[in-house]
Parts: sequence; C-alpha cells; structure tokens
Amino acid sequence: MAAVVDPGKCVGCGSCESVCPVEAIKVQESVAKADESTCIECGACVSECPAEAISLP
Ligand code: SF4
Ligand code: SF4
Repeated sequence: MAAVVDPGKCVGCGSCESVCPVEAIKVQESVAKADESTCIECGACVSECPAEAISLP
C-alpha cells in the first residue's frame, strides 16, 4: 500500500516530495505519485498537501 494521489486535485507543487522522509513520492509531469514499495504510510504528505489531493487507503 502507499499514499494515493488524486490526479484531478494535484497541482504539482512538490510539497509532498519535500516532506517525505523516505523520498517515496515524486512529481512527474505535474502530478505526484507515490512508490508502493517505498512509502511507509507515515501520512506526512497527506497533511502537507495544499490541495488535499493525497489519501492513505
Ligand atoms: S505517506 Fe509518508 S512515506 Fe508515504 S509518500 Fe507520503 S510522506 Fe512519503
Ligand atoms: S503536495 Fe499535493 S498538490 Fe502538491 S505535488 Fe504533492 S500531491 Fe500534488
């Protein structure tokens, strides 16, 4: 499992990337995506996202 980004809400700001402690989430082509094998589901990106685009399943 990993953090899930709603591509319709993500504005590509990169805040999630900056706050992730394990570098699991990256912005590619203006939309962030978390890597399933790296994400530790800490929730840091969820609270940091200004667009409320990230959730943890
Ligand atoms: S939940 Fe934590 S580990 Fe996973 S992408 Fe977000 S900040 Fe990184
Ligand atoms: S913090 Fe939110 S809006 Fe910004 S790049 Fe990450 S998912 Fe997208």
